[in-house]
Amino acid sequence: MDETSKKQATETRLVHVGRNTKDSKGFVNPPLYRGSTILFPTLASLSEGGFGYWYGRKASPTYEALENALNELEGADETILTPSGLSAITTALLALLKTGDHVLVTDSAYQPTRTFCDGPLKGLGIETSYYKPRIGAEIEKLIKPNTKVIFMESPGSQTMEVQDVPAIQAVAKQNNITTIIDNTYATPLNFKPLDLGVDVSLHSGTKYFIGHADAMIGTISAKGSAAKCVRQTAYALGICAGPEDTQLALRGLRTLSIRLKQHQQSALELAKWLQTCDEVEAVLHPALASHPDHDLFQRDFIGSTGLFSVVLKPFSKQALARMVDGLKLFAMGWSWGGFESLVLPFDPSPYRTATTWPYQGPALRFHIGHEQVSDLKADLEAGLKRLHKTAND
Ligand SMILES: *Cc1c(COP(=O)(O)O)cnc(C)c1O
Repeated sequence: MDETSKKQATETRLVHVGRNTKDSKGFVNPPLYRGSTILFPTLASLSEGGFGYWYGRKASPTYEALENALNELEGADETILTPSGLSAITTALLALLKTGDHVLVTDSAYQPTRTFCDGPLKGLGIETSYYKPRIGAEIEKLIKPNTKVIFMESPGSQTMEVQDVPAIQAVAKQNNITTIIDNTYATPLNFKPLDLGVDVSLHSGTKYFIGHADAMIGTISAKGSAAKCVRQTAYALGICAGPEDTQLALRGLRTLSIRLKQHQQSALELAKWLQTCDEVEAVLHPALASHPDHDLFQRDFIGSTGLFSVVLKPFSKQALARMVDGLKLFAMGWSWGGFESLVLPFDPSPYRTATTWPYQGPALRFHIGHEQVSDLKADLEAGLKRLHKTAND
């Protein structure tokens, strides 16, 4: 990046990252290269790499465009693309851990992260301990001689605890431990973990990068030896992203800042309103002053996004079904980050091991899309009314 670019705002850089007008022969966007085989005209070029590329799985101008864009946005040396967010998590863990090692994983981690740790990693003789997300510098007490990685996710994508990343990072550094963060919630626009010394920042690009629920990708951005190690492991495992999905992620980045601003504004408006509703026990949104980690969030994050959770007062399963089944604009879905609003009932109590979920009532994770807020509010208002018993109950 040249000196002028360095001074430009992220909004400006998002329009320009990963583009090279000369290479794309004047077209605004980098071309979509699909392909396995790269041809070598001579024996010498076969070993030297004729055009700078060897095989479709290893590198292509399409992959490089997104990798370069994310290197700049994350402040990374390298970005490795994977076919999904979960494969970004599993590839990074496999790269940085070996048999006999111990990993500390936040209790608020995306549930499939736990499934991988408790299954395949355990099978490889790698031990996982889950820690309280709000542990901060106290994490030092959980470190064992064989602890090699600390895995963070902040805020937790359902339960919304914000982690004290600088405090955890300081302990990790003192003890020579590599740190990984699942930064999917914030995107590099709202939180830049590598600037705080975290070694690896990974994303489910399926969410806000792609932004339209029509493709899947994972990204792993890292510095120094961690980056090299992840790159080598991903290649050894045969991990690569699809070229179309890569291009859709790069296209998504162009509008990421304006989409996020709208997600943030609409979600905050609804979260504030939900706080005033009688049926609601708690709204878990880190940008609200009522959130227990609000100060930490204010200190470390540039802004919030469209994701937050709500805990309802205790209502029966039938009442909850009446509420969610009748919603017209909020469909239920496991993902988030697209243009559409979603709701997901969840219960972390069966799988949490380091913390106890303190609520009795049903919890709902909302992703606020780009529908008009007044329409979303009307849909939810009618839904909350359906929680109450009717004459037919
Ligand atoms: C969705 C999600 C993932 C997994 O991403 P996929 O692209 O669906 O594999 C990982 N972490 C978080 C926080 C997520 O929300």
